[in-house]
Amino acid sequence: MKHFLLSIPLALLCGCTQPVVQSALVNEVDVFLASYSETYLGLQLKSAEADWALNTKIVEGDDSNSKAYEVAEGKVAEFTGSVEVIEKARRYLAGASALNDLQVRQLKAILYAAARNPQTKPELVTARIKADAAQTEALFGFDFKINGKSVSTNEIDRILEEENDEQVRLAAWASSKEVGKGLKKGLANLVSLRNKTVQTLGYKDFFQYQVSDYGMTVPEMMELMRRFARELRPLYRELHTWARYRLAKKFGKEVPDLLPAHWLPNRWGQSWSSMVKVKGFDLDGVLSSFKPEKLVRQAEDFYVSLGFEALPRSFYERSSLYPLPKGTPYKKNNHASAWHMDLEEDVRCLMSVEPNANWWETTHHELGHIYYYIEYTSPYVPPLLREGANRGFHEAIGSLLGLASMQKGFLQGRGLIAGDAEVDELQVLLREALDFVVFIPFSTGTMTHFEHDLYAAGLPISSYNERWWKYVAEFQGIRPPAGRGEEFCDAASKTHINNDAAQYYDYAISYILLHQFHRHIARKILGQDPRNTNYYGNKKIGSFLRSILKLGATRDSRAVLRESIGEDISARALLDYFEPLLEYLRKENAGRRHTLGDI
Ligand SMILES: [Zn+2]
Repeated sequence: MKHFLLSIPLALLCGCTQPVVQSALVNEVDVFLASYSETYLGLQLKSAEADWALNTKIVEGDDSNSKAYEVAEGKVAEFTGSVEVIEKARRYLAGASALNDLQVRQLKAILYAAARNPQTKPELVTARIKADAAQTEALFGFDFKINGKSVSTNEIDRILEEENDEQVRLAAWASSKEVGKGLKKGLANLVSLRNKTVQTLGYKDFFQYQVSDYGMTVPEMMELMRRFARELRPLYRELHTWARYRLAKKFGKEVPDLLPAHWLPNRWGQSWSSMVKVKGFDLDGVLSSFKPEKLVRQAEDFYVSLGFEALPRSFYERSSLYPLPKGTPYKKNNHASAWHMDLEEDVRCLMSVEPNANWWETTHHELGHIYYYIEYTSPYVPPLLREGANRGFHEAIGSLLGLASMQKGFLQGRGLIAGDAEVDELQVLLREALDFVVFIPFSTGTMTHFEHDLYAAGLPISSYNERWWKYVAEFQGIRPPAGRGEEFCDAASKTHINNDAAQYYDYAISYILLHQFHRHIARKILGQDPRNTNYYGNKKIGSFLRSILKLGATRDSRAVLRESIGEDISARALLDYFEPLLEYLRKENAGRRHTLGDI
């Protein structure tokens, strides 16, 4: 969540490099930034409080919380996109060479935020917000049905993960895509509105706008994504071949060239890990006797062991950490999230922790966001720059600690699996690859290329479904069970096509980055095998992480990466991690036909 607080006087931030007498322009910009930050904070805090209430207390038939949030968020939009703010930020940026780096970064952040809600075209903004809300409601309010009977998406997921009957699977998969038909027109309308909104501020299209947050051009981002997909291709090709033969045997069918989508244990074929069960690694069993509170306390204890402070008491007082007790007359959002309410000390988590391996990993992940917030909340980071080095960094840090919390050495050290547990390490690697590696062609390939075409290449609505499946086949090697004409819009069944659009590459980047950080820690700090580490109690790891977190968004993310681990973004660490698996799969697949082409 992006919530800003009062500006710190810049002289305090850059005292060492400021000339004794600041230019009039520098002073004027300081005054503007301080005033903007103060107003923004007041409005944003109200919006965050309303958003928190909306997510933690959902009363059926009572829309007062959502109305309050709309009003508060509307005021934020009005201010951040106001004509005066846009004009001033633009004018000051025109003289950027006379300003200091922190000022330029803050002004750019202001203009970036303005492009979402430019009040120079208020009717566009209103139409976009309305269309956004309608699309979200149509997706989340959809009545999924199998054979005429309503089902939840959890039930659809369970069928795709566990069911052996191919016809039952087919019905579940097909039902999951029905929602797309009704979303197609709304999506086309949103694409047009999102593009027009940011064009007001001079961006070519919404895709370019989102990419610009990384300081990159669209061709640079697309090339980076294709590079990741290409580098992982040999390993993905082995996984693809292994899965084709394994699933054809399971369903008693000929081995297909492309994987039928309904054979896979995920609605979009983006994660296949439930195809593998690993013996001797029963974290669920051990954790089932824990109270949920113990998971959160142990995750905090892990961070403290690395040298981070204990969480502020207010974290426990204000967060919503556990499922609501039975009989509570309202509901809450069950998805995990981490909140920085005021961009100062008020940090909270919204979770529904239960004692199992999934929540164990998730709790460690969410606390990664919380410690990121805590570290960059300092006089050295102006409130407008209290963000990750880029969008991928915030996710990577959480996922890094999540990964570390699941490794055998760590779990043995914590007494959560037996010291002499016999675990088939190749099966562990295979299960991990079916998440981390399988996700890359989906995120860098299908999602990013399709959204690029939607926003930046003017893809006509009459080609949405054909283009979607072209990329699914090319990058993921998957085909639909039967013909999918343009009456469908299968892409729109994915939340991120509708909401948080055109930024799915964030997740690919975070997977790549987290492996680079992890390899650096394992090899350079711990001297351990990256596939089996124990971070616990190592203060050097804490110092290393804090050196990255404390910078927030005050520096270019590429420089931060280079200075912290001595390399640029690269899939090498991810590939090295799975090297033993590549050898194993090559043997398993010996004599089998590979059908994935080059990209
Ligand atoms: Zn996260």
